[in-house]
Order: sequence, then C-alpha cells, then structure tokens
Amino acid sequence: MEFTFGIGTKAVFGANCVKNNKQEFAIRGKRCIIVTGKSSGKTSGALEDVTHVLKELGIEYIIFDGAQNNPSLDNVKEGGDMAAKDGVDFVIGIGGGSPLDVSKAVAVLAVNQIEPVDLFKNEYEKEPLPIIAIPTTAGTGSEVTPYSILTRDDIKTKKSFANDSLFPKVAFLDAKYTETMPYHVTIDTAIDALSHAVEGYLSIRSTPISDIFAVEAIRLFGQCINGLLEDNIDITLREKLLYMSFLAGMVIAHTGTTIVHSLGYPLTYYKGVSHGRANGFLMEEYLNYNYDVARDKIDNILRLMNLGDRNEFGKVMDRLLNEEISLDDDEFSLYASTAIQQKSIAYNLKPVEKEDLEDILKRTFK
Ligand code: NAP
Ligand code: ZN
Repeated sequence: MEFTFGIGTKAVFGANCVKNNKQEFAIRGKRCIIVTGKSSGKTSGALEDVTHVLKELGIEYIIFDGAQNNPSLDNVKEGGDMAAKDGVDFVIGIGGGSPLDVSKAVAVLAVNQIEPVDLFKNEYEKEPLPIIAIPTTAGTGSEVTPYSILTRDDIKTKKSFANDSLFPKVAFLDAKYTETMPYHVTIDTAIDALSHAVEGYLSIRSTPISDIFAVEAIRLFGQCINGLLEDNIDITLREKLLYMSFLAGMVIAHTGTTIVHSLGYPLTYYKGVSHGRANGFLMEEYLNYNYDVARDKIDNILRLMNLGDRNEFGKVMDRLLNEEISLDDDEFSLYASTAIQQKSIAYNLKPVEKEDLEDILKRTFK
C-alpha cells in the first residue's frame, strides 16, 4: 500500500460556523478582500455574516463582487489588481465554485506581479495570501481543493491551475447559505459533486482513503436522489449535499478528475452548459466506457445509490437534467480534440484516444 494524504484546509462544518469561529478571521490580518459573485454573497446571507464578524473584529475589508461564472483571465485580473492595490493581508471567497476559484487566483495575483496566464505555471515567487472559503453551492468542493479552474479564450476551453499553497486555510461550511440556490443550480451542483466522487473513485490515482470519501459521497448522493427529483429539498438534505460535496472535493484534491470533466469543459465553453450539468450528461456513457476495466467498482457505485444497473442510472440522470442537447459531427470532433489535450485524461483507468471521446459524445448526444 502506498499513498499520500493531506489537505491544507481546516474545515468547520455546521450552522452559524462563521459567527461561532471569529478567531479564524482575527488571526489572518488587519485588511482583507472579499471575493464573491454579483448576487451569491448577498442572496445567501454569507456576505452579511462575514462583514458583521469583520466589523466586530475591526478588520477592514474591500469587496470584489464581480466574480463571473466560469471566470475568465480578465476577470481574475480585475480582482487581483484590486487586492494588490489595497495591500490586503488575506482573501475571503464567498460563493459557488466560480467565486471560490477567483479567490484563489486573487490570492496569487495580489502578491505576484504576473499575468493571469502565468498562473498556469503553478509556481509563484511569493506565497499566495491565505484564503478563507465559504461555499454557497453544494457541488465543486473548491473549498477543500488546491485547484482553480478558469476559462481560457486563447485555447478555447477551461483549464485548471493548482498549487498546494492554494488550499484555503479555512473552509466554513454552513448549509443555510445554500438554501437560496435555485432548483436547477441545486441539481447541477449536486451532480458535479457526484461526478467528482465517481471520477476520483475510478481514477488510476485513487487511494484507499480517497475511496472511503468517494464511497460515502456516492452513498449520500443516493439518499438525496428522490428529494432532488421531487424538489423536496429541506435543510437536512441541503446539509447532506454540502457534506457530500465536501467529501468529493477531498477526493479530487487527491485524484483529480478524468474524462467527464475534460469533455464537460468544451460543452461549457461552446454551449454555455453549466459545469455540473455538462458532467451529468456524460456520466452514463463514461461508466459504460470504463465498465470492462472497472466492473467491481462501477457495480458498487450503482449499489451505493440503490440503482439496478447503468441504464437505470442513465434514466435518473435524464430525469434530473430534464433537457436534451444535440451536437453535430463537427462538434463531436472539436470537443474530443480539445478534451484529449487535458492532462487529466491520462488518469482514466484505461488509456483514452480521441476516437474514444468522440464515441462517448456520439452516444450521449446522438
Ligand atoms: P457558480 O458558477 O459559482 O454559480 C452558479 C450560479 O449560482 C451563479 O449565478 C451564482 O450567482 C448562483 N449562486 C451560487 N450560490 C447561490 C446561492 N446560495 N443562492 C442563489 N444563487 C447562488 O457554480 P458552481 O457550480 O458552484 O461552480 C462552477 C465553477 O466551479 C466552474 O467554473 C467549475 O469549473 C468550477 N469548479 C472548481 C472546482 C475546484 O476544485 N476548484 C471543482 C469543480 C468545479 P453569482 O453569479 O452571483 O455568483
Ligand atoms: Zn466539477
């Protein structure tokens, strides 16, 4: 047995965890930048709780509430410039995966005079500022990963950068902040978390410990399926989804993702399909593709969700997504050739060729 395990994040989970753990802000410095989306920080109530605590502690703050969905290089530059100009000591990210990923870029750019494209070199002269991450969606797990995923117009897809120093120092997970998510965002982000657990579980980089988290995350998703399908989503279910996305985040922190994410990025880039939704479309055929090399694990995934077979899994996904997308031959080819260039493709259990990806796309979007 051989593995490495570790996340650089102290996670605090539970109702009112922000207000009950003020010392985590107090020890980070005297000035900070809050990075959030146009509305997620305010709507979720997280921004109010955080600013309340900061005022009580006498910590000065500026707010960058311009984090875009699927953030671009220009977008992170804007936040980075604001932080650098102000000389802040730390960064607080509030929102879904998009603002949390922007907060990671801002933490680097605040102290390193580099162009955003150089973030992808994954090495920075000065240590990024400490990050406190507060998710308002239950999906990406970005609060416990060292990744930041940005939209790259130069290569027409999304790409991640990563560095251990980008693990948020603290993550506050309070399910009440996720209650205001619209139904479709709840569904899409829950599916994203499921895809992290499943891709991590089936990755060549999976470890005995990441498998424990993956299995538990998949089991919890199974318990949430009916509530999600029926739009019967109370705070207990939201807590379960937030916990599962946190577990799944720790999975990909160790394993990375594979085919589903690599193919999902062009779907988001060219078709504007949300991140989790893009993954959801692809999962059934991803399981079919890998079944001959991962029969035991895939059967276990289905058993954990109380689903009979891959076909039944596909039907559940169809009902959750409730949308049909079709692509043409040019799109199959373009998306496959974009995806095959992602490094993470190599982590799939069996070697993947461009034609395999085209095949998965054709079966999915026939
Ligand atoms: P998102 O793009 O952060 O947010 C989607 C939408 O939901 C936005 O309109 C957002 O509003 C809104 N929203 C968020 N929380 C809300 C709340 N509590 N109430 C009401 N509205 C809310 O979605 P996401 O799926 O969480 O993040 C996706 C991004 O994360 C992608 O770029 C993906 O590539 C990345 N990702 C990162 C990792 C990682 O490890 N770093 C892993 C997986 C995915 P605002 O526009 O106002 O924010
Ligand atoms: Zn994802």
